[in-house]
Order: sequence, then structure tokens, then C-alpha cells
Amino acid sequence: MIGIVIVSHSKQLAAGVRELAAQMVGGDVALAVAAGIDDPNNPLGTDAMQVYQAIESVYSDDGVIVLMDLGSALLSAEMALEFLSETQRKKIYLCEAPLVEGAIAATISAASGNSIEQVIAEARGALTAKAAQLGIDVITNNQQTPTNNPHAVQIQLTVANRLGLHARPAARFVATAAKFQAQIQVRNVTRNTDFVRADSINQVATLGVRQGHEIAIAVTGIDAEAAIAALQQLVADNFGEDDSDLLPPVIAASETVEGELVGIPASLGVAIAPVFQYRPTTVQVEEYIVEDTASEWQRLQTAIQTATQDLQSLQRANQLGDEAEIFSAHLLILQDPALLEPVRQRIFSHHQNAEFAWKSTIDELAHNFDTLDDAYLQERANDITDVGQRVLRSLRGITIPTIELTQPSIIVATDLTPSDTAQLDTTKVLGICTTRGSATSHTAILARSLGIPAVVGVPAAVLHLANGTLLAIDGTNGRVWLEPDTDTITTLQAKREAKLQAQQHAQATAHQPAITRDRKRVTIAANIGSVAEAKIAIQNGAEGVGLLRTEFLYLNRTTAPTEEEQFAVYQAIAEVLDRRALIIRTLDIGGDKPLHYLGLHSEPNPFLGKRGIRFCLENQDIFKTQLRAILRASYGHQFKIMFPMVATVQEVQAAKEILAEVQTQLRRANIPFDETMQVGIMVEIPSAVAIADQLATEVDFLSIGTNDLSQYMMAADRTNSQVAMLADALHPAVLRSIWQTVQAAHSSGIWVGLCGELAADAVATPILVGLGLDELSLNPQAIPIVKHAISELNAVEAQAIAQRALNLDSADRVRELVSSLMQKAP
Ligand code: PEP
Ligand code: MG
Repeated sequence: MIGIVIVSHSKQLAAGVRELAAQMVGGDVALAVAAGIDDPNNPLGTDAMQVYQAIESVYSDDGVIVLMDLGSALLSAEMALEFLSETQRKKIYLCEAPLVEGAIAATISAASGNSIEQVIAEARGALTAKAAQLGIDVITNNQQTPTNNPHAVQIQLTVANRLGLHARPAARFVATAAKFQAQIQVRNVTRNTDFVRADSINQVATLGVRQGHEIAIAVTGIDAEAAIAALQQLVADNFGEDDSDLLPPVIAASETVEGELVGIPASLGVAIAPVFQYRPTTVQVEEYIVEDTASEWQRLQTAIQTATQDLQSLQRANQLGDEAEIFSAHLLILQDPALLEPVRQRIFSHHQNAEFAWKSTIDELAHNFDTLDDAYLQERANDITDVGQRVLRSLRGITIPTIELTQPSIIVATDLTPSDTAQLDTTKVLGICTTRGSATSHTAILARSLGIPAVVGVPAAVLHLANGTLLAIDGTNGRVWLEPDTDTITTLQAKREAKLQAQQHAQATAHQPAITRDRKRVTIAANIGSVAEAKIAIQNGAEGVGLLRTEFLYLNRTTAPTEEEQFAVYQAIAEVLDRRALIIRTLDIGGDKPLHYLGLHSEPNPFLGKRGIRFCLENQDIFKTQLRAILRASYGHQFKIMFPMVATVQEVQAAKEILAEVQTQLRRANIPFDETMQVGIMVEIPSAVAIADQLATEVDFLSIGTNDLSQYMMAADRTNSQVAMLADALHPAVLRSIWQTVQAAHSSGIWVGLCGELAADAVATPILVGLGLDELSLNPQAIPIVKHAISELNAVEAQAIAQRALNLDSADRVRELVSSLMQKAP
């Protein structure tokens, strides 16, 4: 018997629909419900596991139709499919029909013994009767698309406003469309999407229309001409948006002078060179029907194979060092069943040609990432598109275009893919300047490993410069000068020279301890995220690891890492460190990095959601597995454990209790671990600063995470280029928090470190030493410079500088103070 599953946010709603549907057929149908969540305070929601169980309960080889209400119901249903066997999955049909009408129509049809296809068709057509009664012509998915409809009036427009069809502009678009009786549909031509209803905000939002995208609008009905004219006008008026108010505040700030732009610093160093405008070309594809689906699939497999070989050789490319690992992620994308399965289906079931099937699926996947609220994940869309284009080129037999420079230049582009960046000729590319991207994009990471200065997220004005225009960029502070004058060039060249010399000197003394002139020692440790980085850290003179970000173990996979896997990695890192200290931070993952296999979904305010210790305390199985792995690997090494995102004393107590429980289990099982292992927390939430004295009595050390602390102090999302400059860790508000935390730790007799990016900023070094931090933990590349900076300091003078900085009123003033005093120093 065909099964029917109703997925809803509300238990009551689902129960009502079930009752109504069952009444229609006297209860003779397999109907299950997955609705609500087990949270008494917030019972509205959906849960993938519940959906899976509901499907299982009504499953038969005849098939199961799943009807969902909205939003996360779809996500949960999709995720539930992953728990089923491949054979079962093929029999499950997620259906877009309206929940109430669809459930009733499907139930009646199933009870009459119809096939699953008929049941689905009945559910989909469920609105027709209602619409007919109301005299409305319904657009259904089965209907002829407007492109084939000879009566449809069509126009194609370019969306020019900065946000594209996002939020407010989309709402205006929908409101305008809804004013007309005509049926209006719209599609994103650039992304090659299907037509959707122009009067549905949800459907319009799924088109992912961005600045510069082409949209096609198709209209049928009596007032079609008027509707077209109104929509055309709306697009021409930029949807009523004044883009100037979207510019980052730094642009409007008084210190930004003419001819100077500000972006996000992505790779250190100064470059002065003519502009080379790079406009990558993408492979365009046509759709056509194929008869021999097996050979089409084979053709795709061969192209994937070629792309795999290319990626493997990039992985081995010497110049990229360990960052070539980025291409391992690209290889994983090529093997991902979530990508290959839909492509396969398009080829075998819909007879689509390989190029079209592949590109459509890649676009959908990239779009899913692109529309997530987290900038780090949005950057992954760039990786997916990059891999997608690589396969398309190989399908078409086109080689990857190389960036041919006739003279040393700064490349200017909207964005560069990792593939573009990896093949740059470092003798000719002196700098990179892009209008998209963030410091965490793989392009930025590759630029850093190639040693190419880069500034990303620069205002679009830079794209209008003619080739050959002189440009200067400073990857340390994100500044960009258009046609810089002689004075600016001289200053920047001097800066570049000074930096080079300091780097050479610092490298030579990197393995000495960091001791000030008046003999105050500061421990310099590294922030790492892999075994490879542990090696680099030691080569650069790290005295230990102050922050091991364990998230890397959980990313790019479909199931959580086992205890054994984690144990092996922690041990491997410990071996590289050879008895140096290793602070392992427990899983700091959450709403901003939605890992579906962990049951994590996007949240409206991801940075304020279930991150770090909040997630671990609620998911104790995952937490305990990690704690067991850390404890077991700790035996014979110098491990310390650190809990992230702590906001309250109770969280620390709860985490320690769980740790104690795991320790007891290990003792009972006679499994050795380091009984003296220190336990610490990260101070990165303002509440933790305010109660640092209370927290300090609970732990052996504190480590200040200024990346998060500054974003929370300044209420400025660290990944949002519009406000990221506000989240400046040198702002006195943040410095005062550091000072307060140091005081609290020292009054309780415990040590305190700092592991945010601020630790790697040599301008901050005198202040951090002066504020009394015992340890600085930073990215391995910056260790030599910071150690060198400490060796040139006098701790007593540094204290005076720090105290003066606390009383200034802006981060810029703090920078000015340090540079003026440092210039005067002997
Ligand atoms: C921080 O917040 O400063 C920190 C070091 O942690 P992460 O950057 O991993 O959030
Ligand atoms: Mg943090």
C-alpha cells in the first residue's frame, strides 16, 4: 500500500490534517505524521529523524509520498532520505503539493488503489478544484512553461541594484506582480533556473538573483502589457533602492581620502603595479535530449576522471605548499553522491545531456551555499562553481584559460576561483584586488601561501579602472590607492622594504624564546587546524599550540569522526609537537556552519545561536566521543583542554561534569590518560568578560578569543564586509575587556592567553604584552615577526603604552599611538 507522510512544524496541524484525510477514506490508508519538536518552550519545528521514522512506519515497495508544510520541513524531509537505504530512497517522493489539499487528494487516490504516479499527480492537482470554484487560473508545475506558451509576453532585464532580488527588492517585485490579474512568472537566466511564480516571495527568493544577473519575465493575461511595463519600471528604478547607503561605513568615513578605497585585508604585503582587469569566461551550456543515456553518463565519468587528474596534479604543486589541500576538498566535491546522484537522475530519467545535467546540479548546489547566512559557507559556493567549470571544460575539451600577463601587474577581478589563483605566475602577479570574497575564501588562503599581497571586498569602482592604471594595495590594512601620488608610492615602498628586512631578521631568530629587553617572557604558541599546520608551527618557532581548532575533523564529511579517528589525529599532532603543550579546543561548530549529519541547521542569527559549548552540552554523545579521544591521546603528552563560546558559569560546570564522567569511565576501564590535564575556557563573549572573576575560579586558564569578542563587543558580524571593519580588536572597548580578563585571571592565580587574530598583529604586540598576557597564540606564519617585536620591547614601557591605549577613543588612535611611540624607540 502506498504510504503518506505529513511533515509539519505543528503537531496539532499535522494531527488535524491526518484526521481530515483519514475521515475521507474511513481510515483505510497508511498515513504517518512527523511534526513538532520535543522542546516544551518552542515546540514548533521539524526533525529529520522523526521524518525518517514516519517514512519507515509506512514504507512499502509501492512507494511513499511525503507532503511538507514549509521551510525547514523540506530540509528535514530531504535529510531524512539520507538515513534510508538507496533502494528505499528511490521509492520516496517528496511532493510540493499544498499540505492540506494535497494530503486529502493523495489519501483518496491511494485508498482507491492508484499507482504512486497517479497519487502524486492527484496531490499536485489538489488546488485545481478550489481554484476553479473561486474562478482563478492556477499555475501548476505540470502546466506548459511560459517559454513554450505562444501567448506569453516576455522581457529580459538586467538587475543592477547591489543586493539583487534579495529581501526588500524581492518584496517590491512580488508586490508589484501581485497587483495584476495576469499570470506572471520569472526566471533567473544567468543561473538558468526554471520559471517560478512572480507573486511568491519564497519562489522569487529561490532564484538567487544577484547584481548583474539577467532575469526573464513572462506574462499572460488581460493586463499583461501593463504588468510588463510596471515591472520594467521597477527594475529600471533599482527597486527603489538607494545603493549608496549600502556602502560600508569605512568608505564614508572622513579618514577615507579621495583616490583611496578600503577593502578587507586578505594577504599581507604591499604591491604597486599597473592594473590587469581579469574577466573569467565561463562555459555556457545548451540543453538537448539524449537517447543513449548510458554513453552520456560514461562521457561525464570520463570528464570527471580528467578533472580528478588535473586536481591531483594541482594538489602536488610545490608552490602552493600545504594549502594545496584545498584541492583535496575539490576532489571530494567530485566524488560527492549528493552531487552525482541528481546528475545521474537528470541523465537517465530526463534524458538530459551531460553538460546541462551537470551544470544545473552544480548551480543548484552552489546556490544553496551562496544563500546561506554565513560568509564562510558562501565562499564554498565559489569552490563548487570552480569544480563545476573544470568538469564542463573537460566535457568540452577546453583547457583552463591562463592569465597571460605581459608585465608585472595587480590582478583586478570580481573574484578569482582557487583554480585561477593556483595557476598565477608569481613573478608577474604582484597583487590581487577583488570586489568579492572574504579573508576566509580559498582564494585568499592560496594568495597567502603564494605570498601575493591581496585585498578583497573592495568597492566596485576598482573594476572600472582601465588596464595599465597604476594601483597600490596594502594587504595588511586593506587599503587600495588608485593612481597613487609619488609621496604615497615612496611611503609604501619604504614600508615594503622595512617589512622584508624585518621578516628576514625575524626568521633568523624565530627559534629563540620571546623575551623583552627587561627579561619578561611571553609564551608564543600557534593556532593550528591540522597535522600539517603543526609542522609549520614548529618550523616557525612555536613553543606549543595555543589553539587546535578541532572543527577541521568534522568538516567535508557525511558522518561525525569516530573516537578512533580523532584519537589518531590528536596523537599525530602530539608527536609533531614532541612534548610541547597542546591546547585542544573542543568542537566549536554551530548555526553558522550547519553540518547536517550533526542535526545542525542554519539559524536566523547564526553567531548568536547554538554554537560551541552550547551545542556540545545538548549533544552529549558527540561531546563525550571527543572528550574520550582527547583524554586517551593525552597520556604521555602535554595536553590542555579548552571549551569555546562560554557565556555562563553553569556551562563550565556542566562541561566539567561531563568531562569528569568520561574520566571516571576511562579509569574504570583501566584506560590511561593524563590525570593532571589543565582545563580552560575561551573568553570571547562579553558576558564571560563581565564574570571573568567567577569563571576564573572554575578553571586552570583563560584564553581570550578576540575574533569573536570584538564582533560581539561591537555588534558587528566578523564575516560581513559591510561592518567587519567595526569589529576591530584594537578598539579600546575590546582592549578594556582584555585588561579586565587578565586582571581577573591573575587575581585568581591562573594564567591567561590570547588566541584571536589580534595576537598576530605586530602593532598590537606592545599593548598585549603591556596588558600582561602570559601567552599569545597566533597563526604560524606570524610567529617570527611577533617574537622579534617582543624582543625589542621593554615590558614596563609596554605597560605604559597599554594604559594609554585603554583611554583612547578609537582603534585608529591606538594604532597612531603605537606607531608614533615605536618610531621614537631606539
Ligand atoms: C576567536 O574567536 O578569537 C577565536 C580564536 O576562535 P575562532 O576564530 O575559531 O572563533
Ligand atoms: Mg571564537
